[in-house]
Amino acid sequence: MLPTAAHVRQQFLDFFASKGHHIVPSAPIVVKNDPTLLFINSGMAPFKDYFLGNKPAPFKRIADTQKCLRVSGKHNDLEEVGYDTYHHTMFEMLGNWSFGDYFKTDAIAWAWELLVDVYGLDKDRLYVTYFEGDAGDGLGPDTETQELWRKYTTDARILPGNKKDNFWEMGDTGPCGPCTEIHIDLRSDEERVAKPGAELVNADHPQVVEVWNNVFMEFERRADKSLLKLPQQNVDTGMGFERLMMAVSGVKSNYDTDVFQPLIQFIAKEVGIPYSGAFSSELLADSSPADDSTEANSQQLTANSSATAKTDIAIRVIADHIRTIAFTISDGQLPSNVKAGYVIRRILRRAVRYAFSSLNQKQPFLYKIVPVLADQMRGIFPELKAQQQFVQRVVEEEEISFLKTLENGLRRLDSLEEGFRQQGNRIDGPTAFELSDTFGFPLDLTALIAREKGLSVDEEGFQQALAAQKSRSRNAQEAEQSDWTIVLESEDVPAFVGYDQAEAPARILRYRR
Ligand code: ATP
Ligand code: MG
Ligand code: MG
Ligand code: MG
Repeated sequence: MLPTAAHVRQQFLDFFASKGHHIVPSAPIVVKNDPTLLFINSGMAPFKDYFLGNKPAPFKRIADTQKCLRVSGKHNDLEEVGYDTYHHTMFEMLGNWSFGDYFKTDAIAWAWELLVDVYGLDKDRLYVTYFEGDAGDGLGPDTETQELWRKYTTDARILPGNKKDNFWEMGDTGPCGPCTEIHIDLRSDEERVAKPGAELVNADHPQVVEVWNNVFMEFERRADKSLLKLPQQNVDTGMGFERLMMAVSGVKSNYDTDVFQPLIQFIAKEVGIPYSGAFSSELLADSSPADDSTEANSQQLTANSSATAKTDIAIRVIADHIRTIAFTISDGQLPSNVKAGYVIRRILRRAVRYAFSSLNQKQPFLYKIVPVLADQMRGIFPELKAQQQFVQRVVEEEEISFLKTLENGLRRLDSLEEGFRQQGNRIDGPTAFELSDTFGFPLDLTALIAREKGLSVDEEGFQQALAAQKSRSRNAQEAEQSDWTIVLESEDVPAFVGYDQAEAPARILRYRR
């Protein structure tokens, strides 16, 4: 029997409650009023103001599970989804925080206690990292963290890490500090003997994965790049819940846990195609640290793999994407043609296309999965259950709208394929634009299909065609409307008026003097 997601999540919250933490609900995944962020992408994002000192934290110790999305901006994991075992578009980040209270000693002691004593993970499978220091900054190695870990594990499992992985900064200026990550090696005993896990940490190995990051904010980065020691030291941690589930379940993929299995089983039954789960072995055979680029993997997978691997990938992608779609809509972001709304529309269309091409779903289908997810999450995220019908309606409308053009767009692509092969295996900009403009294919969808066919896309040419069309339509509008001009193309228009009616974004007209 797999451990249930509800139980494992609760164990985390109970553990930190027992250490004096106040448990708070997840903030909505959709960010309003922050020009730098469309979606919450880490557990600390909702607490930014406390770290910046703009507001006092209401409690010195907080813990929670935060809905996160990594599909745009600095963190974009979209391309990995379905191909690797442990990156999702939407995931839960479990976190514990200290706002000027405990620091490295307690954070490290509790992280170890939770993983080893509460969850019963084998300590010989755990690796930890510390910041190795950076010559450029004049900052030495974080020997304090290294020393603290020596109480719990051996030097062979305490690894130095570089600035990219082990030094966290909020932005160009502001709070920052070293971090320590905890990785788990889930390979078989023989594999572990053959090659020590230490060599695979941070090497994109599908079974040696990062589970938890503990950030120790002890500095402030000033505009002149210097570092100032903060008077108040903070702890900010983030643990990927789905990865934790993989570790405690002793399985090889996040998709084999109770978080994803109900969705996967439902999808497989609905489409009448079994999910083989052979994923792990197929993928493992295809990916080695020496050849770890996702693009390379996906191309190789597509070229080599059986029909089963293809349907498995589609099922995983859909199980992943429906979570993103459902949670963002229930948190207030409708699909649209601009900004955050377009990110959601792109993901939704990506899922529709996987269902259409790989699982033979010619009718709306994704909306049917929403109740399964809502029931699964009703204890921790009741907002989805409360809006289930609304979310279903929005998703179904989106599906209907895209299915009207998807098949023709795919046909158009196929008919031109020979020509692409003759022009350097590349889909030209005007065609990519036509696919977007006429058939509603977001550029990243065209790029995905191209990749599967071993083609590339002229993205620059696409942008040029798009700019040319924008300027044409602006001139035409201005001529037609004489005194009126479009001043804003915005999603900030009363909700739900235009998103499903046309491809055109809602417009606000203003009298031109
Ligand atoms: P990775 O190196 O695996 O991409 P990360 O270093 O980008 O992870 P952090 O920003 O440190 O991740 O986030 C904290 C934790 O959140 C990670 O240790 C991991 O467990 C989890 N996590 C990060 N990205 C994802 C994702 N796309 N899907 C699922 N879990 C994730
Ligand atoms: Mg990452
Ligand atoms: Mg990492
Ligand atoms: Mg990390």
